[in-house]
Amino acid sequence: MKQIAVVGAGTMGNGIAHVFAQNGFAVKLIDVNPGQLVKAKETITKNLDRQVAKGVLTEEQKQSTLKNITTTHDLLDGVTNAELVVEAATENIELKLEIFEEIDNAAPANCILATNTSSISITKIASVTKRPGMVIGMHFMNPVPVMKLVEIINGYATKQEVTDAIVELSKQLGKVPCVVNDYPGFIANRILMPMINEAICSLYEGVAGVEEIDTVMKLGMAHPMGPLQLADFIGLDVCLAILRVLQDGFGNPKYAPCPLLVNMVTAGKLGVKSGEGFYSYLAGSKELIVSKSFKK
Ligand code: NAD
Repeated sequence: MKQIAVVGAGTMGNGIAHVFAQNGFAVKLIDVNPGQLVKAKETITKNLDRQVAKGVLTEEQKQSTLKNITTTHDLLDGVTNAELVVEAATENIELKLEIFEEIDNAAPANCILATNTSSISITKIASVTKRPGMVIGMHFMNPVPVMKLVEIINGYATKQEVTDAIVELSKQLGKVPCVVNDYPGFIANRILMPMINEAICSLYEGVAGVEEIDTVMKLGMAHPMGPLQLADFIGLDVCLAILRVLQDGFGNPKYAPCPLLVNMVTAGKLGVKSGEGFYSYLAGSKELIVSKSFKK
């Protein structure tokens, strides 16, 4: 495989494009929003600069990585030559089903269709295509250039050779693949999201403040980041969407999202990407300013 199309140039899409391009793949980065494509290229350049400053990459490697990425807002044009499509558009089931129907019609017959979904059923996504055996979950972690894990999710119909190809490809990217089955939230988010939700409920119930909750989990459990800050990094809208999938998929009220999370998303407080969540952030950066004005 050499030709990769990445659909969606947001938080995850730019990181996925970065990692493929850095490893010599030709990447088409596709987004409906042209402004998002410009922003993605800027983010990738900034992240490559950081790698060069750390001595992880040379200036030449940075330039060849950037050269390997072309952008387009035309989905059909973007996937026509792809050997693998990795979809990383907004976590919304109707949107993903629509995208997969479209790319199934436009991509070559032997092209593997992967989704970076955090929680939506791979089997459901595969069912709207004419190639369910070629559809698979390829769940990268945030930030993609840094995090080693790729959770690979077999849909009900995924062919073994497709799983094997994606395992091999993940290794070529310097990642550690881990194959799991297709049930709501897979493994990563089935375990992570209830923890984040419980942290938000603890805040909502006034058991402790933002900093106290995060400090307990950082220093007490050796987590590199507290659950509230992590939620800000993931995006509170993404967290809410995943909890809804768990709640619907298992029919168990233990997954019901905390009302505070619902309120914050409704108010547009989405974390780092909107500049404010449980913390405030300097515009366009992950640099954190502790929010003192937090209210229920
Ligand atoms: P995001 O909101 O940052 O970016 C989504 C992008 O998709 C936007 O740029 C949007 O313009 C684009 N988009 C929407 N509709 C499109 C279409 N029809 N065609 C092309 N592009 C379209 O979201 P994100 O956080 O990058 O999440 C993307 C996917 O990755 C989701 O499925 C999410 O669950 C998953 N994921 C997110 C994280 C995380 O930490 N944020 C981690 C792992 C997986």
